[in-house]
Amino acid sequence: MMRLPYFEYRAPRSVREAADMLASAPGSAMLVAGGTDLLPNMKRRQQVPSTLIGLRQIGELKEIANGDGLRVGAGVTLTTLVHDARVQAYTGLWQAAAQVATPHLRNMGTIGGNICLDTRCNYYDQNYEWRKAINFCMKKDGETCWVATASHRCLAVSSTDTAPALIALGATASLVSANGRRTIPVADLYRNDGIHYLTRQPNEILEAIHLPPLDGWRSTYWKLRRRGAFDFPVLSVAAAVKLAADGTVEAARIVLGAVASRPVETPDAAALLVGGPLGDAEIARVADAAARPARPMDNTDFSLVWRKRVTRDFVTYALHELRGDDVSARRRSIARRLL
Ligand SMILES: Cc1cc2nc3c(=O)[nH]c(=O)nc-3n(C[C@H](O)[C@H](O)[C@H](O)COP(=O)(O)OP(=O)(O)OC[C@H]3O[C@@H](n4cnc5c(N)ncnc54)[C@H](O)[C@@H]3O)c2cc1C
Ligand code: SF4
Repeated sequence: MMRLPYFEYRAPRSVREAADMLASAPGSAMLVAGGTDLLPNMKRRQQVPSTLIGLRQIGELKEIANGDGLRVGAGVTLTTLVHDARVQAYTGLWQAAAQVATPHLRNMGTIGGNICLDTRCNYYDQNYEWRKAINFCMKKDGETCWVATASHRCLAVSSTDTAPALIALGATASLVSANGRRTIPVADLYRNDGIHYLTRQPNEILEAIHLPPLDGWRSTYWKLRRRGAFDFPVLSVAAAVKLAADGTVEAARIVLGAVASRPVETPDAAALLVGGPLGDAEIARVADAAARPARPMDNTDFSLVWRKRVTRDFVTYALHELRGDDVSARRRSIARRLL
């Protein structure tokens, strides 16, 4: 049985108190929300904070509120999120959140924890003894990247389901520290580095996500995983389009998940859609362009060549769905074929 290492646990009652605690323990404290990612990582000694600052007692983090769009507190559980009718209107986010892990894990896991989820790699997501046997790796305790030994940076994969969906929807995030608050696009929370994958400062707490008003936007999320019941994504496509009354695309965003250390936006491909209809020819052209930046590495499940090929297919299915085609049979057959 893997045991947790010793740590001090602190339970602030407000974001302000949590920010002060974080500021007083720079580098040695970590935030914990549902703990569904962090606690298994601590058992495997991938992350070993000496202090955990629990966010579960902070009521203000658990609210979903109407405003100019929707404000979702970082401590809202994925189950609450998925059952909220206002969130369900943001279809892509709802589909992404509903496919995270299992019902039990969604009961505990929060949207904030999902957004800040650690990056993943076959050489890293192993117990301590396994990692020790290969002399560890650059992400924790070692020096070499076993995926690409010449690489100077870790290539671990961004595996959050909700981040690509939030970026496709144009969401922003507010971060709070003892020094104040700042709001940035969710897209700017990430960098393409498997170790330093967040631009969030160590003293900052993710406080809330702001979803802009729907204003004619439709969105969807497609996820590739080994088991239909639960599994991390090894490829995902989040797409959103704003359509005029005659079906002309006024704006579009396509974001790829699990193909790099951060969600990958494809603005050039999305721009090809603008000003025209969502016709078969346009969709085929855009799917080719959107798949181009996908560079899956050989450090998760399935062959990387095949994952790259599926990127094109998923963009196609996503855009067909957004123009109103019935793609339910396609979704079912993907889940069945991979079991
Ligand atoms: C078997 C299994 C399957 C899973 N499948 C999936 C999956 O399919 N898709 C997926 O996306 N995830 C999956 N997960 C991971 C995890 O369950 C979810 O990502 C969950 O949403 C994490 O939320 P949490 O609140 O439990 O995060 P925690 O474990 O509490 O925290 C995760 C990270 O976020 C940081 N953090 C948490 N809250 C904040 C905050 N407010 N501000 C700043 N930092 C914060 C923590 O410090 C930590 O680094 C799976 C986990 C397991 C064990
Ligand atoms: S990509 Fe390389 S450095 Fe990063 S976790 Fe995997 S093996 Fe380690």
